[in-house]
Amino acid sequence: MDDKPSSDDLYKSAVHILATLAESYKGEIARRIIEVIADKGEITDNEISEILGVDESEVRRVIWVLAGEGLITSKRVTSETGWITFYWVLPLDQVDGILLGLYRKIIDRLEKKLEYETSNIFYWCLTEGHDRYTFSEAADNMFKCPLCGKTLMPYDNSRLIAAIKWALSEMKKIMNSYFKEEVIKEDIPESEG
Ligand SMILES: [Zn+2]
Repeated sequence: MDDKPSSDDLYKSAVHILATLAESYKGEIARRIIEVIADKGEITDNEISEILGVDESEVRRVIWVLAGEGLITSKRVTSETGWITFYWVLPLDQVDGILLGLYRKIIDRLEKKLEYETSNIFYWCLTEGHDRYTFSEAADNMFKCPLCGKTLMPYDNSRLIAAIKWALSEMKKIMNSYFKEEVIKEDIPESEG
């Protein structure tokens, strides 16, 4: 179907990058969610929960974080009877110009995220799936996690920062080489003499 082999490579690289990033945000379950979506193309919360054997509310909590970070996106399908179903898809299932646009958007978001991560100190209850808080948010909660009540401890985000930097450089590398190829193709002069 696709006559540009580079699009397929681009897609695989993108899935790999998204999965690695997702894992750095929300652990192994987030990586598996990305992989399941990549495998199925589009899938509901329910189906993800069934495939992974993970509680639906936990799946949903991780999904909302991933969606908030722009690593996954939703698609609304209305049936003939008016029933609305939400499917989760990866924002990279398209090719060429659209894909490049999405890459740029994600790169932009990652750069903002990097700025946010490097300019804040975070606090966390050390419970997988529970949110981290900035100093002022943690202070507002008197350094207790609002979900489980455990003490919020300083959170070392150096691995997350390293993962974001890595993802940024990988995405830029892929985008630049792909974009360069496109330019070369389009710049071939038509005249032969
Ligand atoms: Zn907690």
